[in-house]
Amino acid sequence: MQNRSWAEPWRIKMVEPIKMTSFSDREKALEKAGFNTFLIEAEDVYIDLLTDSGTTAMSDRQWAGMMVGDEAYAGSRNYYNLERAVFEHYGFTHLIPTHQGRGAEHILSQIMIKDGDYVPGNMYFTTTKFHQQHAGGTFVDVIVDEAHQPSSEFPFKGNVDIEKMQALIDKVGADKIPYLSLETNVNMAGGQPCSMENIRTVCELCHAHGIKVFLDATRAVENAWFIKQREAGFETKTVKEILLEICSHTDGCTMSGKKDCLVNIGGFLAVNDDELAEEARNMLVVYEGLHTYGGMAGRDMEAMAIGIGESVQEEHMASRVGQVEYLGKKLIDAGIPIVRPIGSHGIFLNAQEFLSHLPRELFPAQALAAEIYLDSGVRTMERGAVSAGRDADGNNIYPKLELVRLTIPRRVYTQAHMDVVTESIISVWEKRSEITGLEMVYEPKRLRFFQSRFKVSQPSAVDEDGCKCCSSTVS
Ligand SMILES: *Cc1c(COP(=O)(O)O)cnc(C)c1O
Repeated sequence: MQNRSWAEPWRIKMVEPIKMTSFSDREKALEKAGFNTFLIEAEDVYIDLLTDSGTTAMSDRQWAGMMVGDEAYAGSRNYYNLERAVFEHYGFTHLIPTHQGRGAEHILSQIMIKDGDYVPGNMYFTTTKFHQQHAGGTFVDVIVDEAHQPSSEFPFKGNVDIEKMQALIDKVGADKIPYLSLETNVNMAGGQPCSMENIRTVCELCHAHGIKVFLDATRAVENAWFIKQREAGFETKTVKEILLEICSHTDGCTMSGKKDCLVNIGGFLAVNDDELAEEARNMLVVYEGLHTYGGMAGRDMEAMAIGIGESVQEEHMASRVGQVEYLGKKLIDAGIPIVRPIGSHGIFLNAQEFLSHLPRELFPAQALAAEIYLDSGVRTMERGAVSAGRDADGNNIYPKLELVRLTIPRRVYTQAHMDVVTESIISVWEKRSEITGLEMVYEPKRLRFFQSRFKVSQPSAVDEDGCKCCSSTVS
């Protein structure tokens, strides 16, 4: 394997044609979508890098598994296959299947969190934090500072800052902290891993104080891959062994199967504690479904059971992460500013640096995502001020990171697609000084990034210092 490229450990058996669009088609589609890539019809997209969630291509074996779906209301054989796969690869004894990750987060939050509790986590994830707060908890970020610095090359930006965790325990008391929510390969930090040493140390600290640790294991396999690549002592272990070791330190996990598990829908909660499992199953029958299917069809549980087995194969991970690195390195070579080090599931363009002539008020990341679509039909998404929304006083929040995310679906696109993405971003880079930014013309009350609409800002709206001098409809 030494001098070989990351080439895919599969070949293509069935193809899905995609629509090739002209510049004027894309101009019309973008206008119609109010310059928000979430509002573009998928039919009008050439290469769709909006998300890696549920966009996976399943294998022939997974499709064959769909055909042996047992849709019995109770006791489907596919449930037992999934239970075995979760135990074999994640090591947890009780499986609680849900319709997707947030279903598991809802149940875990409701059974664990009381009003006035604090729930620490290594950076937030949107749905995870929502359910913690909905259950009466307060989220506290305990990730290391490096996670917030786009140019830091720190190899484990997902790590928990042990001092921040200790400080929280000292301040509010361990009895106010039901659990630490430990995310592997932290999504919002750019797909950045935790080290095994950090996981072990923080679990020891929590357990010494009677605080449980639940993994957000959505990208735990990708995290295991990075541990193998970057952490001393793990070079010769398999991804499968490392994944089991990560989980062995913790008390259970929530899972969005739409990522690492290589399926289009599904998720689960898994725990070791018998009483907790019983409570979770009581909730499950109310909110999802009977305990042997929860939120999934029998065929979907079978596809996930098979997908879990495929996800820990070394060749799969080498090509999954290899493809993301291939794209990232090409962009770095072209001088494009991206978040470093390259993460597992996507590339994040630093829009503030890319469009350094634009003030934050003109939403550089939103404008850049729109421009990339216009150039080539490649769909990306904004992760900056639009996503961050407003604070309690109604002011726009301007987070440290103003990014455009290019998320790579698993087993879907080829190296040539990655070349086209690079070419398109380079041509946008070359004409970056002509990009004038966007003004928001419609803003929904909640999670505004999904549905807000924009118009192109006229250059006259910005004075010589780059300050916006006329008021837009939202300021
Ligand atoms: C996608 C995701 C979730 C939520 O899962 P859904 O299946 O979309 O409900 C939770 N945590 C992380 C880290 C995720 O990436």
